[in-house]
Amino acid sequence: MKKSQPIRMCISCRSRHPQKSLIRLKQDGKEIVAFDGTGRSFYLCQVCVRDEKKLKGLAKRFKQDAEQLARLLGTLV
Ligand SMILES: [Zn+2]
Repeated sequence: MKKSQPIRMCISCRSRHPQKSLIRLKQDGKEIVAFDGTGRSFYLCQVCVRDEKKLKGLAKRFKQDAEQLARLLGTLV
């Protein structure tokens, strides 16, 4: 049997997924950026990164420009 994978929660829809399948991000000052190993990170699931409405909500929550966030995620997915 395989070892169980670490499970993390998507901060947008709160569903739980294996860590590997999630997009890991962090907040750097005012910006959301790709997680680079330092600071506090959070996760987004594959569904939410493709959901424009959810991204807009998330951008608002982090006071981030929605288009900028979508662009960043476009490079990570
Ligand atoms: Zn999600």
